[in-house]
Amino acid sequence: MLASTAPISYRQLPLRLYQIGPKFRDELKSRFGLMRAKEFLMKDMYSFDVSAEAAAESYATVTAAYERFFRQLEVPFVQVEAATGMMGGSQSHEYHFISPVGEDTLLQCSNCSYAGNVEVFGSDTDAPSACPKCQSAQLSRVRGVEVAHTFLLGDKYSKPLGATFLNTTGKPKTLIMGCFGIGITRVVAAALEVLSTEQELRWPKLLAPYDVCIIGPKAGSKEQAPAERIEHELLQQLMQICGAEQLLHDERKELTIGKRLLDAKRLGHPLTIVVGAKATQAEAPKLELHTSGGEKQELDVAQVLQLVATHEQHKQQLVEGTEQTDTKRSQRVGHVH
Ligand SMILES: [Zn+2]
Repeated sequence: MLASTAPISYRQLPLRLYQIGPKFRDELKSRFGLMRAKEFLMKDMYSFDVSAEAAAESYATVTAAYERFFRQLEVPFVQVEAATGMMGGSQSHEYHFISPVGEDTLLQCSNCSYAGNVEVFGSDTDAPSACPKCQSAQLSRVRGVEVAHTFLLGDKYSKPLGATFLNTTGKPKTLIMGCFGIGITRVVAAALEVLSTEQELRWPKLLAPYDVCIIGPKAGSKEQAPAERIEHELLQQLMQICGAEQLLHDERKELTIGKRLLDAKRLGHPLTIVVGAKATQAEAPKLELHTSGGEKQELDVAQVLQLVATHEQHKQQLVEGTEQTDTKRSQRVGHVH
């Protein structure tokens, strides 16, 4: 497309074009649901620059954004040096979620910052036992699920295709390219795979469809009327804290609380609040709060509202990048287990 456009000016660079769309692959070993499917959603971007130095700058900018994105998901990940493979180019990195179901073997040095895919060395058996950077023997192997890949392509495609720009003296020059991809459906599937258990789905906070699920009393129970009053008051207060779109009100009152709670765990809401018989007791009324991956807590209304507010605050910090925790964990993959 760039080659068939009249040569663009150096003033229009850097140029970064991206698209989000379905990709199709004749996958012979499709499995793990969305993890390895014949159709998947992908974000890919292509960068165009005036020089190798400028292209390296674009590469650093985009990989820094990828780093922020994966940190926001709070799933242990690692950026590794990767084989340039079919795409070619001079430099390439992959982003992996660490998981035993991962199909890639990664090397990581706990002495320096080195991390690499064994593919870089041709095969697992050719991979070194000492760190290729610092020669330390503190090299561990982990399995990873590839969720993103970046390449510094240079002029590999722009040169043969004649994709040029006009430089400061008006002379045509070859564009220098990079390419960047995130497997969107795979990010969702792999994040759930890494965080969840057999009994309970667990979402990254920023990806959970709802922050809070509210389960009220069963229809026909003796606490129904007083508990429903508390339930509706609670709904109003929660709406102020996190907005209606973050609340799931399970109104299937014909079902027992236990049945609805089981469904809530399967859907993996970060916070599930039960308004049951204990909410109506005269002395010290309590709500049940179930946190994903945590224990059941019996709390009063003020405490529950405080915990929801803390959750919303944490999400906001993740979005703003002011969240400090978990960065070390993500970088030190060897110590994840
Ligand atoms: Zn090392």
